[in-house]
Amino acid sequence: MNNYFRQEIECAPIEKIKEIQNEKLVRQVKRVYENVEYYRNLMDEKGVKPEDIKSTDDLHKLPFLTKADLRDAYPYGLLGTPLSECVRIQSTSGTTGKRVVAFYTQNDIDLWEECCARAIVAAGGTKDDVCQVAYGYGLFTGGPGLNGGSHKVGCLTLPMSSGNTERQIQFMRDLHSTIICCTPSYAVYIGEVLHKMGLTADDIDLKAGIFGAEPWTEEMRQSIEKALGIKAYDIYGLTEISGPGVAFECSAQNGMHINEDHFIAEIIDPDTGEVLPEGEKGELVFTCIDKEAFPLLRYRTRDICVLKHVNCPCGRTHIKMSKPLGRSDDMLIIRGVNVFPSQIETVLLKMGYTANYQIVVDRVSSTDTFDVYVEISEEQFSDTVKELTAMEKNLAGALKTMLGINPAVHLVQPGSIARSEGKAVRVIDKRKLIDNVQLK
Ligand code: ADP
Ligand code: ZN
Repeated sequence: MNNYFRQEIECAPIEKIKEIQNEKLVRQVKRVYENVEYYRNLMDEKGVKPEDIKSTDDLHKLPFLTKADLRDAYPYGLLGTPLSECVRIQSTSGTTGKRVVAFYTQNDIDLWEECCARAIVAAGGTKDDVCQVAYGYGLFTGGPGLNGGSHKVGCLTLPMSSGNTERQIQFMRDLHSTIICCTPSYAVYIGEVLHKMGLTADDIDLKAGIFGAEPWTEEMRQSIEKALGIKAYDIYGLTEISGPGVAFECSAQNGMHINEDHFIAEIIDPDTGEVLPEGEKGELVFTCIDKEAFPLLRYRTRDICVLKHVNCPCGRTHIKMSKPLGRSDDMLIIRGVNVFPSQIETVLLKMGYTANYQIVVDRVSSTDTFDVYVEISEEQFSDTVKELTAMEKNLAGALKTMLGINPAVHLVQPGSIARSEGKAVRVIDKRKLIDNVQLK
């Protein structure tokens, strides 16, 4: 059975959604031009006036905003309302540099929480569910967003935040949590701790998990589903655009519907800025057409993915985005070859390893070194050195086939790679440190 939080919007005909977008876009561009000096200057530089934007077909005329603009304008330069109208600040995790802050009016919070509520309902959530929110709370948007969404659905909400995993599992059992929300890497860790406690998926009542905030693969989905006995759903978002819930997965579990009544999505060529036709892979760009306090237009997310309208069995009509392949700035260029951490994860899980791995890249005498550290299980760890060496060789071969370059594979002791309660640290690129030093 398909459930919706707001069926008339989630399943509206495509033409109706276009109509809503056109109307809101025209109003929003005018509002931003009048209220946000920073963006007005960008539009003036480009010679675009609000009157030039009559529908989404004119979107390409507007200037882009980038993370650099957000840092330039920090903290108040992109505010769309007086500060007295704002009720909340959240901040990015700072995965790729200095944090940026975003502001919210009460309407912005309501809109964001509704997006999260749509995601929870799409994952089968109802007012009879107990929803354990194990994303971090605080400035990070994960906890507060899903917490608010859970309230809107009417679930009994367990605001656990991340960490203290044994206690998470204890509460999960005592209070019969049926839905868990956290990062996928933390879900994997919860599965490991469950196992260590001598428990299995049969000892908990979870039926669904809503996982996002970092890239994860299909293989990781299957392993989480098995470990926790659940259906695992993806959720996507970013602080700049509101937080989690910008897009969410439905029962079809193959791509996320973007909440198009609030956000217009485009895919561009990251090098030229040209808008690409539907179905082509490129950088995702969002225009917020409802937000008041932090109304970003044409914000470049740096996330690489594909957008497509599909006839989804869930009945929703909103365009779907594929799992982000990684960020354009997450892509490693090692010895001239493009490498995404997600490719490595796919190979590892296919070959029966865990998703506990770390990639270390360095530069020695002008040549890139490329090391992949992979944890093995207790049973594998008791194998002979000869067997382990053969496994390393085998894995290096499979990675070479996937990536086109040869990594040095190191199988390491179970539990030796640091676990994350939030976003996992997959890549240590020591070359960047060198570049920074040279800049001085
Ligand atoms: P930061 O950019 O500092 O990590 P955020 O905490 O706002 O800031 O994280 C947003 C970013 O997290 C997105 O731009 C995207 O790269 C990543 N992300 C969020 N959800 C997902 C998801 N479901 N799959 C892959 N990546 C995701
Ligand atoms: Zn769907």
